[in-house]
Amino acid sequence: IAHEVNQPLAAIVTSGNAGLRWLANEPANLPKARQAIERMIGDANRASDVIVHVRALAKPASTQKEWVSVADAVAEIVSLAHSEMNQQGVTLTVEIPDGLPPLLADRVQIQQVLLNMMLNAMDAMSGHEPGQGQLQVVVDWRAGSDVRFSVSDNGIGVPAEHLERIFDAFYTTKEQGMGIGLAISRSIIEAHGGRIWVTPGEQGGATFHFTLPTAKM
Ligand code: ADP
Repeated sequence: IAHEVNQPLAAIVTSGNAGLRWLANEPANLPKARQAIERMIGDANRASDVIVHVRALAKPASTQKEWVSVADAVAEIVSLAHSEMNQQGVTLTVEIPDGLPPLLADRVQIQQVLLNMMLNAMDAMSGHEPGQGQLQVVVDWRAGSDVRFSVSDNGIGVPAEHLERIFDAFYTTKEQGMGIGLAISRSIIEAHGGRIWVTPGEQGGATFHFTLPTAKM
């Protein structure tokens, strides 16, 4: 936590000093000073995001379970991520079996898990040429068993030695990453009585899976 918060704080101090220097110029360089202040605001917001997320991680909000239509919940998230996918020229495939029963779950939390996986997948494919990225969201279900969600990409993949660690809080390989998306996802899925894991993708990339139990009626 110290590292995650210290980094933006140090950047704020650096920008603050730069801003003072631009103001001390004769004449003062106002455009540069303004840029420095804008950077300070951006970094302060980043530090504050870390705190908000850490809080959420330490004390997951109580789950609000309701009957959730998987198809509707997935469709909403797909439409949220749509413009991002279009921009990156990512092709999306969604497979949801017919006859899937509604799940008793916290819809927003499950959507948060799915969205985080989809955004991570897009980060992992950001080096692709437009049109090369392939994102797949598959839901599997057989009567009497848990429902299994899989999110697959053909991005950079996860090195075998990191397959376990990526769910740890603050594990990130991204310059701007916080490394808590998957840790929060794990606490959400476990609070629902499910499991979450990752496997290497079949055509490179990574596949993230999670299960949710169907309610006993
Ligand atoms: P963040 O995205 O802030 O780094 P996450 O907890 O969501 O935090 O992810 C942790 C790390 O797991 C990422 O930094 C990345 O190294 C790895 N990761 C997650 N999803 C993927 C993916 N689809 N492909 C490759 N690596 C991934």
